[in-house]
Parts: sequence; structure tokens; C-alpha cells
Amino acid sequence: MQQTTRTILGSALLVLILLAALAPLDGTTSSGHDFSRAVAGSGGNQLLVLSEAEEQPLRFDGSSSDAPSYSIRAARYATVPKFPLEGLVMGAPKDQQIDIAMVFWVIQGGGHTILFDSGFHREKWFKDFHIVDYVAPDKLVEQMGIAPASVTDVIISHAHWDHMGGIDLFPNATIWIQQREFEYYTGAAWQSGGHNGGIDPEDVLELVRRNTQGKLRLVDGDDVELLPGIRAYTGARHTFASQYIRVAGDPPYVLASDN
Ligand SMILES: [Zn+2]
Repeated sequence: MQQTTRTILGSALLVLILLAALAPLDGTTSSGHDFSRAVAGSGGNQLLVLSEAEEQPLRFDGSSSDAPSYSIRAARYATVPKFPLEGLVMGAPKDQQIDIAMVFWVIQGGGHTILFDSGFHREKWFKDFHIVDYVAPDKLVEQMGIAPASVTDVIISHAHWDHMGGIDLFPNATIWIQQREFEYYTGAAWQSGGHNGGIDPEDVLELVRRNTQGKLRLVDGDDVELLPGIRAYTGARHTFASQYIRVAGDPPYVLASDN
């Protein structure tokens, strides 16, 4: 339960980040650019364009000599409805509830199609959580005009089921994860005294398989450039060694995930 609460709390933080991102994009911007929402699927899942490379070029901000202009889209693949707010915010009124948006991110530029996190699809988690408006991550990516097999990179913020649970849906992608996160959840987490709440063993096996295929990149610590203009940061420790990213541009975007 503690782990569940922590997972959901993290998801709530993600919601707050998403809401913050939504705020200035509600409708037409001051420059007249219409960030219209594209509805994907019958369940109301939404694809939100945060920045569109063709229409709003992102300037390089100094973190790399060859950062491309990236587009960033949020892919909302499910909702946890009516979750008690007091489980997310300390001191919140006991009778208030909130719908939690479950989101991963699609970043494109420089010849790369990158996912930041991957959602989930395994049946067991639908039994543990009340989830509605679900669209499988690979299907949602297809609806965004991207063949799942063409995804080049999946950057994993942390190993929880609702973030790493979709990596096997993108078979050709290189997976990026913090080295200490990989080492812990493929090792000590499953030994006596280890912590593996919210971790799906099937995801761990896929992670190891991807490593044997030469499609795993282990990120060594804080403030590391993964791809031109995309840097990983640590410190929050939502899990053993979680990470978040900053995507260069004007403005740059920080995608926090559950951190
Ligand atoms: Zn989490």
C-alpha cells in the first residue's frame, strides 16, 4: 500500500506538471498559434502538442552544439478516476477526488522518435488499479502517426509498472535508464531486504533481454546528455535511481515524470 501510495503520488505530480503545461496552451496563444488538441481513441484520450517544431522552431540553448528542433507531445493513455485527493496531497479534504491522467511523452527531432516512459499493458495491473479510458501505448503511438517499430529510443524515468511496462511494445528502440536503477532492480531489489514494490518482473526480464540485444544504454548519474539537447537529471529518488529530462529549445521543457 505504501508503494501504491508512492506510485500514485508520483503520478499526481506528473498531473500537476501536465496541468502546468496545459495552462498556457489552452486555446490560441498570444501569437495566434492554435495548439488544438487531437482526440485519439473513443475514450477521450488526448494528444496534446506542447511544441511543434515546424511552426514554432525551438532554438538551441547551449547544452549541445548540434541540438535539433524537437517537437514534444503528451500521450494520455489512461485515467485513474476519482482517486482520493488526500492520497496525493497532504491535508487535502477527505471528501475530494481527482482523476489522474496517465501520460507518456513523444519527442521527435534529429532523426529520432523518442518516448519518455512507455505506459503499461499487462493485465495484472488492471486488477490492482481502477483504470478507464485505456489505449495501449503502441496503439496510441500509431494514432499519433508513428509506427511502433520506428520508435528509436525509449527513455525510462523509473522502473515502476506504469512507466517501464510498455518497453516490449517498441521492439527496435534503444532503452535508456539510469545505471543504478538497472543494477538495483535486476539485482538487490529481489534479495532479502530489497524493495521491489510497483516493479513488474516481466519488465525487468525485458530490460535484461534488451541489454543482451545491444539495445540498452545505462546512464551514469546526474546532468548527462543522452541525445543532442536532451539531458537526464537525478536527485528526486522516486525509486532507487529515477531520472527526469530536459529537452533543449526556446523555451526548453523539463519532463518530470513522477519525480
Ligand atoms: Zn512511479
